[in-house]
Amino acid sequence: MPAKINLALKVGPPRDDGYHPLATVFQAVSLFDEIEAEWAEPGEFAVTVTGEGADLVPVDDSNLAIRAAQLLASTYGRPNSVGVSLSIKKSIPVAGGLAGGSSNGAAALVACAALWDLDVGTDELQALAAELGSDVPFAMLGGTALGSGRGDVLVPALARGTYSWVLAFGHRGLSTPAVYRRFDQLNSPGGGPPEVPAALMNALRSGEPAQVGPELVNDLQPAALDLQPKLRQVIEAGLEYGALGAIVSGSGPTCAFLAANETAAVDLSVALSADGICRAVRRVTGPVTGARIVG
Ligand code: ATP
Repeated sequence: MPAKINLALKVGPPRDDGYHPLATVFQAVSLFDEIEAEWAEPGEFAVTVTGEGADLVPVDDSNLAIRAAQLLASTYGRPNSVGVSLSIKKSIPVAGGLAGGSSNGAAALVACAALWDLDVGTDELQALAAELGSDVPFAMLGGTALGSGRGDVLVPALARGTYSWVLAFGHRGLSTPAVYRRFDQLNSPGGGPPEVPAALMNALRSGEPAQVGPELVNDLQPAALDLQPKLRQVIEAGLEYGALGAIVSGSGPTCAFLAANETAAVDLSVALSADGICRAVRRVTGPVTGARIVG
């Protein structure tokens, strides 16, 4: 199941229920967590987590993959006749702004529906995904898509081409609620509903990375940079080393750099690694498909 980056993240003022209306363009990229689902005793829902940042991931009922399995079982009336033991192998950094947890939730829905042989369609799984969290429906869909509402109302975007990205991982995670709190402090309330810039959508239709790069936008970026000022240096370094565009992904701290092609991405990742300002650097491509069964 893939990680996501936001090519645009426009954030409106908080509604009465505290949620911020979003207008976003998601792209699923080739950085994958793996999840295995095996039968367990009826009523038993368990998870083990290994890999990147595993010690930061809860293994109780707050784990999004467990919540997904339990929601699926209770919705389809079989909470006491099915059980599952999930193993997650993480490559997506935890609290990295790449929606790793949401991706695990989407994958658990797909994997458990197959394991328990449930008669449940994609639309029904998408509805459960939206109940689990605002990034979960996109993790299921994949590709490039426009998200509105809380990011859970999706329309596939007209996007051509494959994009070469370099991801720079931070030393510490950033809490999404903390970034939104800082956003609220930095921005005065009011303003109209958020909209994805037309220039980005036109650039995506062209399939030209050189057109897409300058149009990347993230309203949460000033808040993320304020909470982790070192990210400013990371963004500047990537641009200096030839990135066509640079952006903090979602609520950060992962920074995403768009390269002209694979060769440019290799050069950029080597230069950023040598610089030593980020914890790790990974090359990925997008778009890729959403959560799916591989065997
Ligand atoms: P987003 O961009 O969707 O806000 P993120 O990428 O910044 O999220 P995640 O890696 O999804 O952050 O994790 C956010 C928090 O969710 C973690 O700090 C962790 O406590 C919790 N969590 C619950 N289940 C999982 C999971 N399966 N994998 C990772 N984190 C999980």
